[in-house]
Amino acid sequence: MTTNILISGASVAGPALAYWLHRHGHSVTVVEKAAEPRDGGYAVDFRGAAHLRVLAEMGVLDDIRREQTHTGAMVYVNSRGKKLASMPADLFSGDVEILRGDLARILYEKTAPFTRYVFGDSIARMEEDAHGVDVTFDSGATGRYDLVIGADGLHSTVRRLAFGPEEDFVSHLGLYCAIFTVPNHLGIDRSGLAFTTPGKVVTVYSARNNTEAKAVFYFGAPPTGVDRRDVAAQQRLLTETFAGNGWESDRLLGMMADAPDFYFDSVSQVRMDGWTRGRVALLGDAAYCPSSLSGMGTGLAMVAAYVLAGELAEAGGDHTVAFARYEEAMRGYVAGCQKQGQGVAKLMVPENRVVAWLLRQNYRLMPYLPGKKMIANSARRTAENIALKTYRARRSTQIGTSVSASSAAVTANPPE
Ligand SMILES: Cc1cc2nc3c(=O)[nH]c(=O)nc-3n(C[C@H](O)[C@H](O)[C@H](O)COP(=O)(O)OP(=O)(O)OC[C@H]3O[C@@H](n4cnc5c(N)ncnc54)[C@H](O)[C@@H]3O)c2cc1C
Repeated sequence: MTTNILISGASVAGPALAYWLHRHGHSVTVVEKAAEPRDGGYAVDFRGAAHLRVLAEMGVLDDIRREQTHTGAMVYVNSRGKKLASMPADLFSGDVEILRGDLARILYEKTAPFTRYVFGDSIARMEEDAHGVDVTFDSGATGRYDLVIGADGLHSTVRRLAFGPEEDFVSHLGLYCAIFTVPNHLGIDRSGLAFTTPGKVVTVYSARNNTEAKAVFYFGAPPTGVDRRDVAAQQRLLTETFAGNGWESDRLLGMMADAPDFYFDSVSQVRMDGWTRGRVALLGDAAYCPSSLSGMGTGLAMVAAYVLAGELAEAGGDHTVAFARYEEAMRGYVAGCQKQGQGVAKLMVPENRVVAWLLRQNYRLMPYLPGKKMIANSARRTAENIALKTYRARRSTQIGTSVSASSAAVTANPPE
């Protein structure tokens, strides 16, 4: 039985789910509010057996390896750029690391031949009955689907429509994060530089074979009320916060206006008692964002896509059974990833000078300590803490063999 499934969000979780739903025989539409696949964001990493297995079974592991960052150590510097301490690569980069934008493009290209992609639109209303969900889009287009999946991130519209307001589920961890692409003006060679001051961290690391760099700013602040669609206001806030902060801060802020991308968001977690309701389910950051500091959000979203699609297949399309099993399979895994996100948030941005000094001493000593692998190993254990079932897929991995020309990707078109 082919079911007709609508996914909201075409970043990581959405296309990953589209891939697996197609393999299990479903027909998939993905609606994305951006006008095209979005570039930008920092490097995301995969670590441990579960992540690598899912990537390999999707047939994207080699593509990801081809475009991996190969980022080496993160070097902590003082205001004059003098090296203070160095953190080993495996702590930040996992087994394979790739820029989020590159990953999103790989997943989009992988799924475009058999997925109906609709860019520049968003779900406005959903009305569910016993047999399906009637969806009205912002564009005025309408469609009827068997299931709707919200893979639309931290500020999910599907979550708001089906479960309630964002404030009920999103928990601010006391930090903000901004990331944009800059020229590699420091000539950084496959590594990163970090400069910490109380309540702030500025990091620059090289990307795309040293041809460019990513400027990353973290700062501690309570919810600021800055509109998340107002990029000018976000950039003003960043400038006010970091102007005169020292090291490369001012120069990087000066490059912000020319950056081809700009990502700004609170460091937050999504905590919910349940991720499914009726014929609607949430996936990835929309359901259980562990925060950008956990280093787990992307791997978690891709593992979850595999599980959700697999459980739907195993339940023969009975979404009530599948959704319950999805929640059961993911609950412990999500809890581990979220715990890691909270721990890193406390460590990442030192609250005051004393903590900043203590952290620097710790980083300086780390390469010589017997427990130096402890943090990386703990992250690996968290990433591996799920027993993945093997779900039998109805379609082979040979994309194209079971796809008719009429199901080719449609972009910038409203749903029927
Ligand atoms: C441009 C961008 C940059 C990012 N940069 C970073 C980063 O630097 N560090 C980090 O830790 N995480 C970053 N993230 C988040 C990171 O991708 C996720 O934490 C993780 O990969 C899980 O992905 P996700 O697909 O669940 O959510 P997300 O990657 O957040 O994707 C959600 C998708 O849904 C789309 N969307 C949102 N609302 C709607 C709507 N109403 N209708 C249709 N589509 C909608 C968004 O445009 C986006 O494409 C970034 C996300 C984006 C979109």
